Amino acid sequence: MMTKRMQRKINFNAGPAALPDEVLAQAAAAVKEYKNTGLSVLELPHRGTHFLEIIEESKALVKKLCALGNDYEVLWMHGGGRMQFCMVPMNFLGEHDSAGYIDSGHWAEEALEYATHYGNVQILATSKKSNYNSLPEWPVSVSEGLSYIHFTTNNTIFGTQWHKVPKTKVPLIADMSSDIFSRKHDYKKYSLFYAAAQKNLGVAGVGLVVVRKDMLPCITRSLPPMLSYKAQVKENSILNTANVFGVYVSLLMLRWIDKKGIGAIEKDNKRKAQLLYNAIDNSKLFIPHVKKESHRSLMNVCFTAKSPKVEKAFIELCEKNYITGIKGHRSVGGFRASLYNCITVGAVEQLVQLMHEFEATIKNK
Ligand code: PMP
Repeated sequence: MMTKRMQRKINFNAGPAALPDEVLAQAAAAVKEYKNTGLSVLELPHRGTHFLEIIEESKALVKKLCALGNDYEVLWMHGGGRMQFCMVPMNFLGEHDSAGYIDSGHWAEEALEYATHYGNVQILATSKKSNYNSLPEWPVSVSEGLSYIHFTTNNTIFGTQWHKVPKTKVPLIADMSSDIFSRKHDYKKYSLFYAAAQKNLGVAGVGLVVVRKDMLPCITRSLPPMLSYKAQVKENSILNTANVFGVYVSLLMLRWIDKKGIGAIEKDNKRKAQLLYNAIDNSKLFIPHVKKESHRSLMNVCFTAKSPKVEKAFIELCEKNYITGIKGHRSVGGFRASLYNCITVGAVEQLVQLMHEFEATIKNK
């Protein structure tokens, strides 16, 4: 029986986000059978040699793509981004100690709220008053007594991104969930960075954590092994039954990123963002959420239109044209186009074309 081929939509969702066709095809094939094993990847034993190979190759690729050496450990964790909101303070913030948090958006704020359960939190900078339509000033002088500074490299909901990250004397911890591997970046600045996988790195529920080894002795709180970076490093991320399929998809993504090259990825990401921001800036209908060019995210472009009625009409037009996922988060409204690594320049050109057509019909009404 012939099955009808689905028409792939252009998916601008913020996460779970679009995955490359090539990766989906490889994942689908592995669900049927993994490497002539007579087993689906869904059935692979998590302590068997095949999964160990997946873990080792993915760890090596992460280090290669980040240009990191043996002073860093790579972990695959359960629980996506929020689990790291918990684990970072559990591991590194003692009850009577203080950590600094930079509040540049919803996720940064949520991370700092989680930390208040474990120790003292200082908000070093915030742009909350302006509904996060710009980045706060990076704090110039901070107490060296802080256990760490936490910040979010890209603010998924508000569409801002740190393009320059100063070096700090205090250990720097970054949530890179929505821009990891999207540009050339100095990962050596960080004592720890993490990313939920469902944007540039695979499927939801998986979390990548990269931690510098010298941070591990700083853990003083007694923790159950699942929540301890030290125990997870010791057990090579297989402390309990690992998310074999999720980590495998991340490996496929890492291979895809490595093949394309971070330089080429960054070039495309800049081109895509430029196309879309230009269209918004030159339009009389669409309004950018972030005005300062140097604060604008290459990954999540947030904008609104003149009225909710017009916004609804444009979203409907997009859906009719097989463009999905551009409705903005409720705290900004309007639209958000997430331009993660596998969104092509051609896909953004299609969106821009539709914006022009839509604006012309509105003008003529
Ligand atoms: N951090 C950032 C920057 C995010 O964008 C998100 C989710 N969109 C999270 C953390 C939370 O991730 P999760 O839903 O996997 O907990």
